[in-house]
Amino acid sequence: KKPAHRVLIFNEYTLLRLTPVRNGTSQLPLLLANWETGVTESDLEHQLERLQRRLERQTQARVAAEELLSSKATELYQLNKSLLVAKEKAEAASLAKSEFLANMNHELRTPLNAILGYSDLLMEDFEDDPTVVADLNKIKDAGKSLLTMISEILDLAKLNAGRMQVHVQPIRFSELQDHLQAREIDLITPNDNTLVFEDQLQETMFHSDIDHLNLLLLNLLGNAGKFTSNGTVTVTGKYISESPLPIAISVADTGIGIDLDANPDIFNTFEQVDNSSTREHDGIGLGLKLAHELALLIQGQLDLESTLGEGSVFTLRLPALVSTE
Ligand code: ADP
Repeated sequence: KKPAHRVLIFNEYTLLRLTPVRNGTSQLPLLLANWETGVTESDLEHQLERLQRRLERQTQARVAAEELLSSKATELYQLNKSLLVAKEKAEAASLAKSEFLANMNHELRTPLNAILGYSDLLMEDFEDDPTVVADLNKIKDAGKSLLTMISEILDLAKLNAGRMQVHVQPIRFSELQDHLQAREIDLITPNDNTLVFEDQLQETMFHSDIDHLNLLLLNLLGNAGKFTSNGTVTVTGKYISESPLPIAISVADTGIGIDLDANPDIFNTFEQVDNSSTREHDGIGLGLKLAHELALLIQGQLDLESTLGEGSVFTLRLPALVSTE
């Protein structure tokens, strides 16, 4: 018959095999085991004490470890709490900054527009005096660069503050083309570039926000004209069937190109390719970030393919219909 249970105690003296009797409380097996192996009761007591002391030490160590764990957990909790408070404060400060800038829209643009407007008026008044006209042109160019930069800062602030609305309407590629063409002299001609349009969308209508689209494409067109000389800038509209974003509008240039391996974050705020040809141009590195954020706002995406020294292609992919939910 098998024993009810078996206890093995292994120590430096002996190996004891204890088999309790059926009522489980009898000391008989212990005594028998002692008798069989020649181990005295005091040996066993000694052994038991050692085991108890070891158990006590282990219990104390476990309690200490538990206390340490609990104090670390409290520390972590406090740290998390203060991190959360800091994060909320930083977010509130960033939102306040964005809101402040968005509110400054009118205050900043109005005086600059006045400078530009009055330069035009003065140019008409002094059209017979080329020296004055040249000086006025410099004022106007500087004012325009400043207006572009301020507009980029303000538009991004408005986007960050969640104050940029989306107004959906039916659009044809030709409407975008007209808007871009109107800026050809301004953005494309100064570097002796040619502007070409390829309208493969023809009469295809899609639904989106035309103001955001114009702003986004103007940014891309401005960059293409800025970083290309004696080259071609081509704006193409295509329909890619079976794509969730079937409308593809690309701005391709034959300019200096971008080394994408060296500049993987080019769509980030303030990112500029750090080479002398870029530094020759003005700009603050907000245009691509703005274009990227605008693309997301109208539920599209902006992709870039580029080869250094050969040119860049920025492609905006859009849904045929922007959901207004
Ligand atoms: P910036 O105000 O400097 O033009 P952007 O955010 O519009 O800022 O562009 C960021 C940088 O990306 C530019 O400084 C330039 O280095 C690079 N870049 C943008 N577009 C082009 C392009 N079409 N060809 C070459 N480089 C470009």
